[in-house]
Parts: sequence; structure tokens; C-alpha cells
Amino acid sequence: MKEFHIAIDGPAGSGKSTISKQIAHDLGFIHIDTGAMYRAITYMALLEGIDLNDEESYHFIERLTITYQDDKIFVDKIDVGEFIRDDLVTKNVSKVASFPYVRQYLVKVQREAAQGKKVIMDGRDIGTVVLPKADLKIFLTANIKERSKRRMLELQEKGFDVDLFSVVKDIEERDKKDSLRKVSPLIIPKDAIIVDTTHYSIFETVERIKKEIEERGAYYGRE
Ligand code: C5P
Repeated sequence: MKEFHIAIDGPAGSGKSTISKQIAHDLGFIHIDTGAMYRAITYMALLEGIDLNDEESYHFIERLTITYQDDKIFVDKIDVGEFIRDDLVTKNVSKVASFPYVRQYLVKVQREAAQGKKVIMDGRDIGTVVLPKADLKIFLTANIKERSKRRMLELQEKGFDVDLFSVVKDIEERDKKDSLRKVSPLIIPKDAIIVDTTHYSIFETVERIKKEIEERGAYYGRE
């Protein structure tokens, strides 16, 4: 099987996971949502009751096996998907993701998961740090109102009781933290194609990106 790496980066609520999942499904790629991995570590850190501000206390993650498979996130083979969108996890994830120790650990997991495979990986540092030689880099964005609306609907569909105001606040705060952190901040990779999805549907965005993939000669079809 030919290796082909697609890096999808962008701010919170830009549709990275939804779009990546659809493309992976259509083209037979493996999809990896790296945000879910940072959320899984945050959830486990809260469970362990460690001091979230102390980088040293994150060494417990070395005992964990974190995997993302078939759009599900597993810690030691246990599906933690239903816990990682929790408000407490969302409020703390950017802090957890700011520690170099946590990032180094997950970047290794992510690179290993992509090696030799056709992968579409979404996150904040994929095109810059995790897969700097990716065959295609996309920076997905949309204005804050649209991103907040989408995130609110997504959370409501999952049964969370959220209002637009709190979602806007959360997204603004996380974007600020993610963009200003010292290690692997959210930036536009210099060789990325910027795709603003504010006025485009999921279908249109998926088709747009698939065209870019096609132009780069990715090998289609499941194996
Ligand atoms: O993608 P999602 O919004 O679920 O990501 C949750 C958080 O995980 C982000 O706000 C960011 O702090 C962190 N993250 C990161 N690097 C990635 C993916 C996510 O720092 N590659």
C-alpha cells in the first residue's frame, strides 16, 4: 500500500473532524482525530486527580495505550468517546496540550499511527510538526459565528445542554491559548492551502479537498 499523508489543521469548530472523517470514508483512508487524543489524556488526568499545572505529574501517561480507530478513541482498549466532550475536559484540554512532555508523547503515537499508511490526520500542529512532509496540507477555517454554531449543534446532537454564548466563549478562549502557546502553536503551515468554509457546506468542502487529493495522485480504494 502506498503511503499518503493529509494534514488538516485549523481552529476549534472549523469542521476538521467531520470533513476528515467523510474524506477518509470516501477514499479509504485512515482518519486520526488528534484532538480526541489530547482530550483523552485530559480526561485521564482528571480521573487520576493529578495537579494539572505540574508537567511532572503527567508521567502516568506512559502507562497508557492511546489509539484512535474507526472514529473511536481508546485508552487501554476502553472506548472513552462519551467522556471526552465533557465541559471539564474542554475547559482544561488546552492547558494539558501546552505541556511539551504531553505533546512529545502524542506526536510519537501519531507518527507511528501514520507510518506507511494512507492517513488523513486532523489537529493543530499536523502540517507543522507531526507530518511536516505531508503530501497535502489544508488549513481549515470559518468565522467565529459559524464555527460556534456548528460546534453548538454538534454538542446538542450528542445530548449536551449548551447555549451559543458559552460555546463562543469556549472557542475564543481555546483558540487564544492554542495560538499563543510556546510549543507547536496553531499556525498556518507555510505550504498549506487555506480553505475558508464559512459559506460552504460539508459536501462542498469535502469535494474541494478531494480534488486536491486527486491532483496529487493519491491511490484510491480500500485494501
Ligand atoms: O480538535 P479539538 O477541538 O477536539 O481539540 C481539543 C484541544 O486539543 C485543542 O483545543 C488543543 O488545545 C488540543 N490539540 C492540540 N494539538 C492537536 C490537536 C488538538 O494542541 N494536534
